[in-house]
Amino acid sequence: MPERISAVPVSVAGLYRGRELSGDGSVAVRGTSVSITMTEGAGVVLRIDEIDGLRGNGSDLELFLDSGDVLQLSSASGMVRVTEDIVQTAIALPELTRSLRALGARRAKPGADHDRFFAPLLSARRRAQGCATVEECLRICDAAALRAELDRHLRDFARARYPRSGADRRSLEADLEDAAGRAFARLDELAVAGNAVRKSDDTARFVAWREWTSALRAVFESADSSWLAIRPALEGPRVKHRPLWRRLLRLGALAAVCAGAGTLDAQHMQMRIRGVPVDSLRARDFDVVSSVPGFAIIVADSADRARLAQLGWSAEEIVTRADIGRAVPGAQRATSVYRSFDDPVRGVRAFLDSIATANPTRAHVEDIGTSIEGRPLLALKIGAADDSPSRPNVLFMATYHAREWAATEMALRLIKHLVVNRSERTDSLVANRDIWILPVANPDGYQYTFTADRFWRKNRRRNSNGTFGVDLNRNHAFKWGLDNVGSSPNPASEVYRGSAPESEPEIRAISAFHEAHPPVLSVSYHTFTGLILYPPGHEFGKLPDDLGIFRALAGTDVQPAVRDRLPGSNRDHYHPAPGWNLYPTNGEYTDWAYAEHGSIAFTPELSSGFEFERFYGFDFPDDESRLATLFDDNLPFALDVLDAARDPLKARPLATGIASERIGIESVSPVVRVRVPLADIRKTFVKSPASVPLAPDPSSDAAVYTRRLVSTVIARPAEVRIDVGAAGVRYDILSATGAERGDEPWLASGFLKSPLRIAGDSAWTSGNGKLRSPAIAVPAGLDSLSVLFWTRYLGDPFSLLPRGEIHYSVDNGNSWTLAGLVAGVAETYYPERADIVGVAGKTVLVEFTALFGSTLPSWWLDEITIVGRSSAPASGPDLITNLDFRPSENPVRGEVVRFLWPFAGAEGEVIVYDIGGRQIWHAPVRDNPVTVTWRIAESGTANGVYFVLLRSGGRLVRGKLFVTRGAL
Ligand SMILES: [Zn+2]
Repeated sequence: MPERISAVPVSVAGLYRGRELSGDGSVAVRGTSVSITMTEGAGVVLRIDEIDGLRGNGSDLELFLDSGDVLQLSSASGMVRVTEDIVQTAIALPELTRSLRALGARRAKPGADHDRFFAPLLSARRRAQGCATVEECLRICDAAALRAELDRHLRDFARARYPRSGADRRSLEADLEDAAGRAFARLDELAVAGNAVRKSDDTARFVAWREWTSALRAVFESADSSWLAIRPALEGPRVKHRPLWRRLLRLGALAAVCAGAGTLDAQHMQMRIRGVPVDSLRARDFDVVSSVPGFAIIVADSADRARLAQLGWSAEEIVTRADIGRAVPGAQRATSVYRSFDDPVRGVRAFLDSIATANPTRAHVEDIGTSIEGRPLLALKIGAADDSPSRPNVLFMATYHAREWAATEMALRLIKHLVVNRSERTDSLVANRDIWILPVANPDGYQYTFTADRFWRKNRRRNSNGTFGVDLNRNHAFKWGLDNVGSSPNPASEVYRGSAPESEPEIRAISAFHEAHPPVLSVSYHTFTGLILYPPGHEFGKLPDDLGIFRALAGTDVQPAVRDRLPGSNRDHYHPAPGWNLYPTNGEYTDWAYAEHGSIAFTPELSSGFEFERFYGFDFPDDESRLATLFDDNLPFALDVLDAARDPLKARPLATGIASERIGIESVSPVVRVRVPLADIRKTFVKSPASVPLAPDPSSDAAVYTRRLVSTVIARPAEVRIDVGAAGVRYDILSATGAERGDEPWLASGFLKSPLRIAGDSAWTSGNGKLRSPAIAVPAGLDSLSVLFWTRYLGDPFSLLPRGEIHYSVDNGNSWTLAGLVAGVAETYYPERADIVGVAGKTVLVEFTALFGSTLPSWWLDEITIVGRSSAPASGPDLITNLDFRPSENPVRGEVVRFLWPFAGAEGEVIVYDIGGRQIWHAPVRDNPVTVTWRIAESGTANGVYFVLLRSGGRLVRGKLFVTRGAL
């Protein structure tokens, strides 16, 4: 190693293991270290193997360190030499010949053949000694060239011994190639490692380089052992021809090698495609997993790659750090943090057993079913061993999709946190909940990603057409196969839904588990987009009735549940949204769990993304500190979910600070949409203008805690009032616009009128503009301001940009505060809401900003209404509850029932609802009657429970009526 000393004055900026380095100093390369001396304060000495890569432009130099840190050095002069010195030191080849025991050893029989056999390697080694760049070294030690030379020498050996007998010669050639098999295999791996170096970016170039040098060392070592195997074959006369069966065997071995190579080739790769829209890729069934400005990222197998070539779309493989070790198909992937399923020492199975053994009173391994290949679906039960009705069930699962390793890590770390890392909060949760954690929902696929194909997604079902795998997250029984967008009927597709609902044993096991232990809340971890998704996912624009609970736990973009602190992540929080906001899915887990079991179910898409331009995607680094950060980011949400299990409607999550809403408003125009507690629905009275009746939303799939009530289309009201039992809420409409003639003057710049409307004649639309409200005087005494609007937008499913933002200002536009945003894709209109607090008594401006970077319409807004929320006692002046509900008989057995009209002298109405909230009879009341008559037989009313409302002006009497006609 030549000594390089070059002290160059530099200015330094960056972090090194949590310490900031900033200011003037100098840098020198000494031996295998780079030392940075600071004029003030401590400097740092970097070992060359701490440097993953560098990027320089002559005067600036960025060093990318294995700690994830980046140091930036700049200097007016001398930086070129420093850069060269570091590169030279980093790519210096290690000693390669010392390990060659055969080289020059007595038993190796040195001689002409021996020298010829080793000549190509030694020559390459000698020439590579002085190579100045990575590219030059790779060229000199090119695996294909070395292989060709080795091959040539073996043929020469055989020809020299059997110059005349072709059969003997070919037989010896075959024996020699067998003997050199190990060297050939190592050369193949060197080729893969060389490609990885060529594809690596600046930030990881040295990492790839070091992998390549160890592959080169392996070539030398294998040459050594190969020679020891070749030598006996060269000695002595050949007594007979190689038997035919041996030759066939060898051909078989070759075929196996080819098949092996084929397997590697057939593996899924993460690839980058420029200039092809995501939609076009998805339309052709490519597995689009992300996109960033300028390119889409897909996971493609060899068939996909062939299709890409056919389409003339060029895609490049994204080489991640972990790919570099991918040379050997069939070999166990070496990991230091991640655990395969089967590994008897470090595997998930072994980990769960060890946790349960070490904590017998707090952790119990449960086998909840069996995969297709016979692996157990293992859940860890935390807390008491039994499942008590007094303790609500909470379920955490991970890795429906095999390649999403970080999700399993999240689950395993949550187990450790709850079982091993004790605290008052975890002790209390463990004592009062039945907690179940299933860290690998798809054990076959998961194990397969360790042994055969890192980016495998589905399970390992052998499909009828010979392809493998069903997407387990499309195989649940709710809305299974609803359409071919949210899942695929094609077995080759990555979102193949299977031959029938719950066709897969893994899904049947999860379904049976829900029957036995229905979770109040559940979480299914996936990777890698940085989202918290909740139901529904099967249809654009649908919102869950229990939106108030989902929002409290998942948060909003302004008050998110999960902060994203991963170094280099392209977002700072997980975007919370209904599942369709990413893309529609059917047969999916959370939709099913919510609809079938009432579970408040979430899919966190754990973040991954990018770091220093290095893409992780599904290949989240096998790195303790990054995985620890991922876990720390996601832990508060997991604990809040556990907390909320006692009564989700009363949840007050610490992470978001949003209390779950008992009474919520979604829209006042063109329909009134409110959410009220299901338990109180009979005590609910919604007063919208002109007594518009509200009925339960017929499109609801599930409502466990709340129910949405909707009106027919109405003109914009001035006020909506909801009374639920003793609580009342009033919403005053303070400003509204729907791009209609005669609307209040909102200031539109870059927003245009669009006929694609939800009400009236037009809506607002923009790709890049602003829409500002007039000044709104907010009355004192209001609790909060809500901005309600109907919206649709065509953003990016994988990114928070492009997006639309809602801001408000209390200083006449001098400064603005973010109140909400929309991002992702919503192909149909749905009602959104952004809340603003602390503005009572102030004058407020509200502004919508389209940041879609487009001249095309990308964001549509209609019926924007700004409402002030205030609470009021429910019974107030409007509601009278001290009058009697007096039917002529109850239960009703006859054909007619009469109600005493309690509002003597006043007109009004009578309405009868069934238990589902559907209005089944309505009659105006005039002429000052004493009683009102309902002819039950004429209405064709079935036996059951009914609710009767007698109303006059703002006064109301209600009662419950039992109809049991025909009964004795
Ligand atoms: Zn997934």
